[in-house]
Amino acid sequence: MAQGSAKIRIAHAEPIGQGARLLRVERVDGAELGFAGGQYVIINSGVTLPGGKLAKRAYSMLSSDAEQRAVEIAVKRIGAGPASNVLNDIAVGAELEWSGPWGKLRLPPGFSGRALVIATDTGITAALGIARSAAAAGAAQLDLLWLVEEGDYFVPEAFVRERLPAAARLTVAGGFLPVGHPERPARACALVGDHVADGPRDAVLCAGDGAVIYPIRDRLASLGAPEGSVLLESFFNNPLKKSL
Ligand SMILES: Cc1cc2nc3c(=O)[nH]c(=O)nc-3n(C[C@H](O)[C@H](O)[C@H](O)COP(=O)(O)OP(=O)(O)OC[C@H]3O[C@@H](n4cnc5c(N)ncnc54)[C@H](O)[C@@H]3O)c2cc1C
Repeated sequence: MAQGSAKIRIAHAEPIGQGARLLRVERVDGAELGFAGGQYVIINSGVTLPGGKLAKRAYSMLSSDAEQRAVEIAVKRIGAGPASNVLNDIAVGAELEWSGPWGKLRLPPGFSGRALVIATDTGITAALGIARSAAAAGAAQLDLLWLVEEGDYFVPEAFVRERLPAAARLTVAGGFLPVGHPERPARACALVGDHVADGPRDAVLCAGDGAVIYPIRDRLASLGAPEGSVLLESFFNNPLKKSL
């Protein structure tokens, strides 16, 4: 799959929920993105940070990988964060530099087993991208578990349900503890343990809060998940990095 570094154009934008925006973007040169569900692009916000670096941030495609020319992302406004504010305010028709697609959080082509996708917070975008992907269409079972604070934290539950294929089963653990709460990892591990009580999955893909998804992986390993069968994508609080 060819990785591109060119410009994208904001083709359409609409508000979703409180403080978030759905954007449809397409390459200015009209080429396909060539992404698989679960992957992300890196967008250059054009904002220069105090240290002199440009604020380039990752956003996962939530649209189906059956459509490669116009893809959708959803961006939550994070405080005074440079990129999320640019993308929540940018005009339709504006152009930005991007690179991608990137990322290994994806089902293998031809997947035919039982898959569980676990999302916390904004990680639901990647979960949607995975569930709507061509690879997911062959899954014998596709469960999604979304751990999220309030109903208006990001995209509404109805937004997610409308976009899921009928075969996917979504469980929303609403009212989840807020980001940074010390009991978040333990609570998440308990919920996931309940979720897999009916047997192991051939693939588990997790996206969202790094402080939560790494402990989830350890918990799944303790429950018998084979080494390497749990894939992770930290959107924030990545324990392997100080900051993105
Ligand atoms: C692979 C990947 C995919 C991503 N996909 C999406 C996506 O689909 N939609 C989306 O809105 N964001 C997504 N993000 C997060 C996004 O890249 C930015 O971190 C976010 O938009 C904040 O950028 P900023 O420049 O506005 O603020 P920054 O100044 O960069 O962020 C401020 C702080 O907030 C943290 N942060 C980022 N997101 C959250 C959150 N939800 N809750 C609490 N803290 C957070 C950042 O890590 C940072 O420490 C993704 C991140 C990664 C690594």
